[in-house]
Amino acid sequence: MPKQHSGFPHSLSELESSALTDAPTISEGSGATELTISPCVDPSIPLSARQWGDFSIQPIAPPLRQALLDWYASSGRDLPWRRTQDPYAIWVSEIMLQQTQVKTVIPYYERWLEQFSTIAILAAANQQQVLKAWQGLGYYARARNLHQAAQLIIQDYQGQFPSDLESVLKLPGIGQTTAGGILSAAFNQPVPILDGNVKRVLARLLALDVPPNKAIKPLWQVSTDLLDPHHPRDFNQALMDLGATLCTPKNPACLLCPWNSHCQAFHLNMQNELPLSESRAPLPRKSIGVAVIWNEQGQILIDRRRQDGLLGGLWEFPGGKLEPGETIAACIKREILEELGIEIEVGEHLVTIDHTYSHFHVTLNVHHCRHLSGKPQAIECDEIRWVTLDELDQFPFPKANMQIIEALLIARRC
Ligand code: SF4
Repeated sequence: MPKQHSGFPHSLSELESSALTDAPTISEGSGATELTISPCVDPSIPLSARQWGDFSIQPIAPPLRQALLDWYASSGRDLPWRRTQDPYAIWVSEIMLQQTQVKTVIPYYERWLEQFSTIAILAAANQQQVLKAWQGLGYYARARNLHQAAQLIIQDYQGQFPSDLESVLKLPGIGQTTAGGILSAAFNQPVPILDGNVKRVLARLLALDVPPNKAIKPLWQVSTDLLDPHHPRDFNQALMDLGATLCTPKNPACLLCPWNSHCQAFHLNMQNELPLSESRAPLPRKSIGVAVIWNEQGQILIDRRRQDGLLGGLWEFPGGKLEPGETIAACIKREILEELGIEIEVGEHLVTIDHTYSHFHVTLNVHHCRHLSGKPQAIECDEIRWVTLDELDQFPFPKANMQIIEALLIARRC
């Protein structure tokens, strides 16, 4: 049996006497967001729709803040970027953490700060060095934006990371929640955050009856109202830790949670059903023919992708998308002629690699190929080079292409 409700804010408790069926449908903001009672709520529990217009978390914000800060003092994680207040280091960590888990980020973060120890050093680096340092972290626009933002900071802010929200938001790659993370951690400013983890925690705290992305505006308001004005740095870090360590996507550890006495999802025993998810269309799959083209000197042809597209600025083995009814070999020959203007012979299969990007799956069908005629030209890319197998290590490649390099190294050893 779920626990009894134990007193949410007065504006909600006013609503709690309403019968489930009385729950009104409520429009929020522009009217695009309708917040209605969740159909999976146990009807024995007194709960009704949240009228966001009246709802405020403020009455219970002080005990929530105190409980969270107390828990953080004893159970917060010791992370490298928490041992500094250098806004540059904190900015780097926030960008790396945008799409990547802490344990993956830590070695990248440490290597990055060894290689680019100041904003000036990062700004002066070339893009290939920056992408190489980022290689394997994915979402490479983050690295390109960090580099470009470092150059802007040198140009417009005398090399000092800005400390006002408006200026920070103008830097490429920094949105509202990243700005909140940086300004609160580096300058102890009361700027709220709302990343994926925080959305999940708040959606459960409130038993939000729509997917969080359908209630962005009210969730920002809750994050703003909850933020401890006296300890914004610790509060935001604690909220991140709560989402990462206790209020996890699956099987949240509610019995250990400092917010369990106020958490609606816990009281309704709905912590495993919330937040509600958005239904998504399945990702499309693309099949790609990829050529490892060898010349008579034993070199391999690689190309650098255009700046403005997916994986911009990274190097790859050339190839392209399979047309309907086309064989892999025909696809590779056609793509190489169109993209590089050369004739090749398609040889034996090297490896097949499946990889998933945010919006599609790809299958790379990789073949050894032999250069027959023509001088390669950068028709569909920014640059091309003939390199030896050992030289490939000097170039930044996306993850799926790194697997091709691994396959080549294994094939050489055999
Ligand atoms: S009680 Fe459970 S569901 Fe609620 S905030 Fe804590 S961990 Fe998350």
